[in-house]
This record gives sequence, C-alpha cells and structure tokens, in this order.
Amino acid sequence: MAAQMQQRKSAAQGAEQEIPVSQPAMARHSWPDAEGAPEHSPMPRKKKPQAAKRWSSAVNVVLVAFFMFVVVFAGGGVSPSVWFAAVKAPLRRGSDHGSFPYERSAPDKLLGGLLPQGFDEKSCRSRYESSMYRRNPGRQPSPHLIAKLRKHEELQRRCGPNTDAYSRAIQQLRSGKSVGSPECKYLVSISYRGLGNRILAAVSAFLYAVLTDRVLLIDPSNEMDELFCEPFPGTTWLLPPDFPVSSYTNFSIDTPESYGNMLKNKVLRNDVDVSSTTATQQLPAFAYLHLDHDYGDEDKMFFCADDQRLLSNVPWLVMRTDLYTVPGLFLVTSFQEQLDALFPERDAVFHHLGRYLFHPTNRVWGLVTRYYRAYLARAGLRLGVQVRAFDDWQAKSPHVLQQITSCVWKEKLLPELLATAEEEHTAPTPGAVAKSTTVLITSLRAWYYEQIKGMYWEQATATGEDVSVHQPSHDEYQQFGAKSHEDKAWAEMYLLSLCDALVTSGWSTFGYVAQGLGGMTPWVMYRPLNITEVPDPPCGRDVSMEPCFHSPPVYDCKLKRGADTGKMLPLVRHCEDVSWGLKLVDPKMYKG
Ligand code: GDP
Repeated sequence: MAAQMQQRKSAAQGAEQEIPVSQPAMARHSWPDAEGAPEHSPMPRKKKPQAAKRWSSAVNVVLVAFFMFVVVFAGGGVSPSVWFAAVKAPLRRGSDHGSFPYERSAPDKLLGGLLPQGFDEKSCRSRYESSMYRRNPGRQPSPHLIAKLRKHEELQRRCGPNTDAYSRAIQQLRSGKSVGSPECKYLVSISYRGLGNRILAAVSAFLYAVLTDRVLLIDPSNEMDELFCEPFPGTTWLLPPDFPVSSYTNFSIDTPESYGNMLKNKVLRNDVDVSSTTATQQLPAFAYLHLDHDYGDEDKMFFCADDQRLLSNVPWLVMRTDLYTVPGLFLVTSFQEQLDALFPERDAVFHHLGRYLFHPTNRVWGLVTRYYRAYLARAGLRLGVQVRAFDDWQAKSPHVLQQITSCVWKEKLLPELLATAEEEHTAPTPGAVAKSTTVLITSLRAWYYEQIKGMYWEQATATGEDVSVHQPSHDEYQQFGAKSHEDKAWAEMYLLSLCDALVTSGWSTFGYVAQGLGGMTPWVMYRPLNITEVPDPPCGRDVSMEPCFHSPPVYDCKLKRGADTGKMLPLVRHCEDVSWGLKLVDPKMYKG
C-alpha cells in the first residue's frame, strides 16, 4: 500500500537530467494503514473537568438500556488537576430561527488580515466565503504573523517556479554543490499517507519554511493539487514535474542523503563552525530531512539549534513527515523569538496556518456548502462527532457505541433519552421554535450513525429537544488515490470544522485538522486498549485545539542527553490522547 502511495502522477522522469540518489524500498518502513498505536503505550486515563452546563437540568432521567448494556457514568467528584478557560465557556448556539446566512454582522472575509487580497474569487470560492459559514469567527492573527505572511508570499513569487531565480537554483541543484549565500532557498514537502497526515505535514513544512525564509514547494502527489487552492498569490506552491532529484518520493530512513545518515556517516558534522566559507563549500546542494514516524536519533537532531545553523546553508531541503512537527520547532532555541512574536497565542498555530493554507477547491466546496445548507444551517447547535475506526473490530462495536453515548451524555453535549418512547406530549405553541440539535457524524462506517439516529428517533429526549443525526458518507475503508473518496474526506473534515462543538477520536489526524480549522477544543474519546474495553472516562476535554506531535524527540540539545521534551517549556506539554506526544498549549489558558 505504501509503495502505491508513493507513485506520483507526474513523476520527474527526465532521465539525463535527474540527480541520481539511492532508492531503498519504502514498503518495509511503512505503518499499517490504520496507524495502530504502538503496543508499548498505555493511554492516560485522566479525570476531566466537567463541561459547562448547556442544557437545563433534566429531571428524573432514566437512561436507555441499549443492546443489553448499562451505561455507567464515571464519578465526577475528582478535583480537576487542570483548569482551562475554554471549558467554562458556554457552547455557542444559534437562534434556531432557521435563516441563513446568520444574523451576525458582516463576515470577515480576510479572517482578520490572515488572507491576502487579490485572488480571483470565482476560481476558489471557499477562500473568501468560508467566514459566512462559520458561527465561530476564530482567533485573530497577530500583526507580526500578518506581516510575515505578506513577506513570505513575496518570497514565493520572487523565487518560485517559472522565475529566473528558480531556474538558477535548479541549475545549482544539478551541480551538486552549495554556494556561499544562495539567492533563494527551498523546502520540498513530500505528500503521503492519509489526508489528515498530509495536511499536518504541509503545515509543519510551511512553518519551517517561514522561519527559515525558504520557498515551500509541495509534492503534488496524492491529490494535493486537486483538493486545495493555491495559497500564495501570483505563483504556485506545487513542485514542478521536472524537479531533478530522482525518485524523491521514495526517500526513506535509509536514504544516504538524509541529514541523519550524513551525520552518522560523518559526511556532515554538526560540531564544526559552519559559518566559515570552506565549511559552507563542502555542504551538499540538497539534504533529505527524514522526519517520519520511524525516524532515528540522528534525524531528530533536526530539532537542535546547532543543526539548524548547519542546515541553513543547504539550499535545497526535501522533507518527509507524516507528523505535526510544530511543537518540535518551538523547542529549537534559535526559532523561539520569532515564534513568540508570530504566535502570542500558542494554541492557535495550526488554527492560523491551516486557515491560511487550506482552501477547498470549488468541487469540494460544493460538497461542503450543499451539505451544510441542507442539513446544518438551521440547527440551534451543531455537534460534530468523528468516529475513527482504526481497527476492523471497531466497524460495529457496541463498546465503541457505548463510549460515544457515555461521552455525549456525561458531558451534556446531547440530551439523554427517556426509557420509553412515551413522553408528556405538549402541543407546540404556534410561532415558538423548539430547540434543536443536529449531530454530524463522520466515519468510514455507517453503523454508529444508524444506531444513534435510531435511538433519537425511537426514544424521546429527556429535555424535549429534537435531535437530528446525519452522516455525509461511509466509504467503509480508507482508499488511496480515489478522487471522490479524497473529496469526501476533505469535505467532511471541513464540515466538522463548521460545527459548534466537537467530539473526536483520539489519535486521529482527521479530527485534529477539523478542530484546528474550526478553532475548537474538542472532547477527545480515548482509544480503547482492547475490544471489550469502554474507556473510563470515555472522553475528556482536550487542553488545546492544537494537533498532537505523535513522535517527538526526547533529547536536550544543550545538555546533549535524553530528556522529557514535554517538561522543558510551559507551552509544550504531553497530549491527552497520546501520552508521549507533544502539544502546544497556551500557558495563560492552561495551568498544569
Ligand atoms: P487518521 O488516519 O485518522 O490520522 O486520518 P487521515 O486523514 O490521515 O487518514 C484517514 C483516511 O481515511 C482519511 O484521509 C480518509 O481517506 C479516510 N477516512 C477516515 N475517516 C473518515 C471519515 O470520517 N470520513 C471520510 N470521508 N473518510 C474518512
């Protein structure tokens, strides 16, 4: 499967012009499609603070016995060890009056200056229409970030494909040697794995490119050229098909040109003064950064300031990652000042960069907007529930279903159900609009949707509210290279991001993208360790809307020894769903 993923639609096949590199097989380094959790890693089972009460108190509620199991709520009396303001905020709710667009003030098309003006609106409608569909306007970007993005766009235009500077840089790449101070430097980001991984990888590469003044070029494989509009005005971010480094999409941990292998084999030394011309001249014209889940200790030296100084003199870098490496960039001391200025709100890095980079193309935007208007626009509250079935046994698991219902009832995200369909029937008052909640379920499987929809049809809610349940698609399994499958996946991630509250499956990059784009701190369902387990508690409020960096370095660059990188900075801590992962939090919001 991995080999299939690596195939490019337009491979750089200009044989004479290619720069030959060794091509070890990727397949043996690939993870299973379902990205199974490493077996050695138990998940944290923390007691979470209670969510704010949204529903008026339900009286005398009898919980539904469903499929012969009893829902037992975990006791909530444990005083929370964390506090964060987001939990206390009431859920955003619309007025239930059924109009669209909403009664809000005029939408902010440019997202507070995050987006550049001047794009043709018709060629990418989502770019300037998205704010019309968001009840939550999201965070404001800092003036520094806005200025830096405009500067970076200028760099992409000046040095990007189809410029003289780009032609000269390609010539230099063919020569195999770096020059003293290159006119333009480049970062090529390889696109592979699922859509969530690809988006996280691209955001990670983009931030690195911004911090190091490199032009970002995205490998167009795996529909990257079909799902997203161009983010930079007046140029393209897609790597041209005549890129001369042969088979770069097959680069792996064994590639001799990887930074880690060059360190290991003493081709490069990170302990010499790289500022001297002689040292610079010995540097190669390109290096491969293997920052994939299986990377080694030498590869991880990427996250050290000395190594960044060395890499800053290499004009071309090619990066492979399936990870959200951004928290790692915050560990690099030489980047910290810039990052402080760019992101005063540390928990909104993906939120801003994701909204800046990723605009669905018109085809996908049609899927998003038609579905939104038909099923979501009129709801008083839209709850997104993302059910990621990583393993086959999760396709129809009563235990996973129990986890979902326990979570939404315990956290008061949905009203509970009466034991029978009988309810005290009150005739509707003319003109009055009942409260309504719409649940948007996304999953590869249909079973959870069918069960939850059935429950809310067959039983009355304790509060008398109406709950409608929808699922846009269920393709049953992950498909690589299938255009309509990718379109639907992207549309569903985006629809989740338009909800007012989110319940996500831990470990899933699909959910991370939705929460980040939407600016929502989700309730995250912990990953069950076995088939019969219902995690207790079933879910908990996350500590920030940032994605989790699943395989971070565990090394102190100053002391040159192993260290817990989740304890080095107040703004980088371990994740709720992947206990060894790293996540950015806003220390003002979160006190551990
Ligand atoms: P992750 O594996 O959960 O981290 O998320 P990825 O997005 O990287 O990969 C999972 C892939 O499976 C997605 O990109 C989709 O192709 C597919 N997929 C998983 N869940 C869903 C879903 O709820 N809806 C749709 N349409 N596709 C899904």
